[in-house]
Amino acid sequence: MNYYNLKDKKEIVDFKTATIKGQGKDKGLFFPEFIPQFDTYFIENLHLFPDEEIAFQCMKDFVGDEIPSDILMEIVSETISFEIPLKKISENIYSLELFHGPTLAFKDIGAKFMSRCLSYFLKNENKKVTVLVATSGDTGGAVANGFYKTTGTNVVILYPKNRVSPVQEKQLTALGENTYALEVDGSFDDCQNLVKQAFSDEEINSELFLTSANSINVARWLPQQIYYVLALKQWQKLEKENPVICVPSGNFGNICAGILAHFRGLSAEHFIAACNENDMVPKYLKSKKLEPKETVATLSNAMDVGNPSNFVRILELFENQFENLKSKITGYSIDDKKTLQTIAEVYEKYNYMLEPHSAVAYTALEQYLKEKPGKKGFILGTAHPVKFPDAVEKATRIKIGIPKSLEELMKKEKKSVEITPDFAELKRFLLNKN
Ligand SMILES: *Cc1c(COP(=O)(O)O)cnc(C)c1O
Repeated sequence: MNYYNLKDKKEIVDFKTATIKGQGKDKGLFFPEFIPQFDTYFIENLHLFPDEEIAFQCMKDFVGDEIPSDILMEIVSETISFEIPLKKISENIYSLELFHGPTLAFKDIGAKFMSRCLSYFLKNENKKVTVLVATSGDTGGAVANGFYKTTGTNVVILYPKNRVSPVQEKQLTALGENTYALEVDGSFDDCQNLVKQAFSDEEINSELFLTSANSINVARWLPQQIYYVLALKQWQKLEKENPVICVPSGNFGNICAGILAHFRGLSAEHFIAACNENDMVPKYLKSKKLEPKETVATLSNAMDVGNPSNFVRILELFENQFENLKSKITGYSIDDKKTLQTIAEVYEKYNYMLEPHSAVAYTALEQYLKEKPGKKGFILGTAHPVKFPDAVEKATRIKIGIPKSLEELMKKEKKSVEITPDFAELKRFLLNKN
């Protein structure tokens, strides 16, 4: 499969190049040259196929012959090596729990797939890649874990000091080996700016081979289709009508993967983009005006994105036809007060513990379904409540215990290097590390 740069359609690269480079000229995102369709028998009879085969079918056309089938099969099997159950919360709302992976966040899936592809592509090359990421919490842990001990890679993660939760911090800092955590005395935006500067710094790029691991990378974006199809496999056993799919959205990579799967033949009644107060897309869907804004800090901080990068891919899927887009996606913006209220209510009524991101989604889906009697749907449960203990405890007054799978990690020592948001410090670190 080839991919073109959305900013310059003449720049065309293969899957390998798109994975290694991350983005094209002028920071343009790569987009597949065509949308491969699912086989009709396959998508209508998902219960006949094992999960690994489904994952393989999701990815094979996007990878083409650049990775041999048997190896791609191993990669996708590893990518989905934990359970992804669809659980009923209320009469008409289910949750697709994507938080049973190593760092208890859905980003584990994309990060794992990307790290395995990169390592395959680089195994015969004599260079080491440095994966550089800024994180507000979840991305860093998933990327560190996904690339942990992956040959040929170093991972450098920048995170804002005192602004990630204790579990998130341990996931970022305690692995060691080829993963390095930089604790920045500043905000997430500071971290992101430092990373951007590094990518455009000539000296760094002549010494190191830098790549990014955020959701604009096709190898992190595309595998997210897999769990939408795994959800449908479970849905078809439980319900007759097609689901309304509600995605808690920040940078819009996740929902864009779901819509891509839908364009390939996955049945869905409707999509909902559930946002916090960072509401560029919900506003656009109402007014057709695309107005990026300053990021607002909220409880669902992994969705604090003022100008979502992946939205251009959604526009491309719909060929910029606003009316079509509007008929398929509805946007909601949910504030922190309502988010906490939903966590409390859902816990009280259904004994189900949401965390801020999935609570934003639950609220949005509930509001949508109120106006569509008879319809049902599911939210994407993107993180485990233990990753956002402050909000959850504030809403429910219940202290959540550390799951068994994290006990070992919590005992490990935090290893990080403190820096100020001064690019010279990051540069010194990167150039001296190798
Ligand atoms: C990253 C993240 C999101 C947002 O996903 P996007 O693909 O950026 O829209 C939602 N919830 C959680 C818990 C996340 O970590």
